[in-house]
Amino acid sequence: MKLARFNEGHIGIVVDEEIIDINDLVNKDLEAWPLVAMNRLIAEYQQFEPTLRAALARPRIPLSQVQLLTPIPASSKVIAYPINYHDHATEMGRQAKANNLGFFLKPPSSLSGPSDPILLPDLPDRRIDHECELAIVIGKRGKDIPREDWQDYVFGYSCLMDIVVRGKEERVARKAFDTFCPVGPWIMTADELGDPSNLRGRLWVNDELRQDANTRDLIVDIPGMIEIASHIMTLEPGDIIAAGTPAGVGPIKGGDHVKIEFEKIGSMTVMVKQTSGGRASIFETTAAVS
Ligand code: MN
Repeated sequence: MKLARFNEGHIGIVVDEEIIDINDLVNKDLEAWPLVAMNRLIAEYQQFEPTLRAALARPRIPLSQVQLLTPIPASSKVIAYPINYHDHATEMGRQAKANNLGFFLKPPSSLSGPSDPILLPDLPDRRIDHECELAIVIGKRGKDIPREDWQDYVFGYSCLMDIVVRGKEERVARKAFDTFCPVGPWIMTADELGDPSNLRGRLWVNDELRQDANTRDLIVDIPGMIEIASHIMTLEPGDIIAAGTPAGVGPIKGGDHVKIEFEKIGSMTVMVKQTSGGRASIFETTAAVS
């Protein structure tokens, strides 16, 4: 099943090129904050599933008539693995890889969706890059999860762009701007996707193919990423793991459009918009940080 958020935050099921509004079943209070209806649906999915299946008979709205939103706006954390493909390690000249480095976090406030532009900070001297990543959505609370149990904790998958200002400042500061984590266009549930260890993912900028990789080439695989993260922190339903990027990262600028696609999941295209904000003082010099 493909679960999405759309328009004013309604939750829907996507079938082919249409969406079925199931908001009345799973998200009765649209005004409630934080926006945790999808987290709750994920946590209680087994109870909800028969109701959702029955809702497939409801009227459908063409996807072209709705605005899709990021599927889990109140994910408690986005766990992101850096340097998790050998070819990306080579292009960045890095020795240390995800199996030694572990992960960093992107804040939930950096999440954006298929209808939101990537808003670039006003840092003209800095390169701002796209990274094409598989998003793994956690379905069940867990701590110290052994790698062989990984499937019990995965709810589904989505496409994720890890946007980054290049430089030597702390990774989080360079990767945490609002809209620096587009996720979408929906969550494809794990039962429908099948084996995620052989998924082709691609990213284009203005129709030029920039990244083309397969999850079989991950350094730390999906069971390993869940095991490592869960030894450090409790994973919660709706948490997102960004699997890392393959080679081909490159700069984006205002006016570009960036398309990401993972096979069996779907694709989305987001615009890039230059803003005049975001000039944090830490970016004023190429300071002697290492
Ligand atoms: Mn990344």
